[in-house]
Amino acid sequence: MDSTFPRPQEGGGAMGCENDFDQLRDLTARQLWMALAAAYQALAADEAQIRGFGAVVVEADARIEELESEVKRLRRLLGIDFLTGVPNHYHIMGLLEREIDRSRRSGSTFSLLFLDIDRFKNVNSNYGHEVGSAVLHELAKRLEAALRLSDALGRYGGEEFIFILPNAPRKGAEIAAERLRKLVAAEPFKIGDKSVAVTVSIGVAEFRRTDTASSLIEAADMAMLQAKDLGRNRVVSAER
Ligand code: GH3
Ligand code: MG
Ligand code: MG
Repeated sequence: MDSTFPRPQEGGGAMGCENDFDQLRDLTARQLWMALAAAYQALAADEAQIRGFGAVVVEADARIEELESEVKRLRRLLGIDFLTGVPNHYHIMGLLEREIDRSRRSGSTFSLLFLDIDRFKNVNSNYGHEVGSAVLHELAKRLEAALRLSDALGRYGGEEFIFILPNAPRKGAEIAAERLRKLVAAEPFKIGDKSVAVTVSIGVAEFRRTDTASSLIEAADMAMLQAKDLGRNRVVSAER
């Protein structure tokens, strides 16, 4: 017989053995069977509990997904761009129409900035699209934190943002744009363990009475393209 198989305990007294192995050898077959059955029951209970946890986790995942899509829906309703957290294209266009209307009626002026990230395709190709998108998010946060309460910032498209600066004539808007440009260039964006340096080109256009939203945006966009032609990472004002 295999010498490791538990032997009936002689005299039925206390085990008095020094280690687990010796204790096992002193168990009767019945005791061993009972110990195994108890261990099996404990295991089965654990398994049931783990299955219970699994169900809770699946349920929680489904709930998180539900809440995420609800947040997306609410943000859309509020006109918030999901990636950057700033007003989306339609929302900022609405704010621009309102500002044009306000300016026409009050006779006050305002300026529009058109900002485009320089060589953003390189960011995507060097670090990946996800890092690129995280840079967009961080950039919007940095820009938003630098604005006055009355100013508005929105994501016009991909990596393009527009700013509405109420009551700012061209000179004041140039100063604001230069401040924003420097703020971006001053410090790389930390995305995980990556440090991503980006610069921006900004076009400035002051509102004229005859402007529509699209003629004003076009003027600022053209100025921004001139900034690109002049070497990027700079501010150019529309001559109008
Ligand atoms: P330029 O200095 O001339 O502006 O060069 P550029 O590489 O920035 O050129 P362009 O403005 O034409 O390219 C914009 C790029 O921005 C292309 C597009 O893939 C990228 N982009 C737009 N939206 C997103 C986004 O949400 N996430 C990421 N990761 N990339 C985006
Ligand atoms: Mg662009
Ligand atoms: Mg660009």
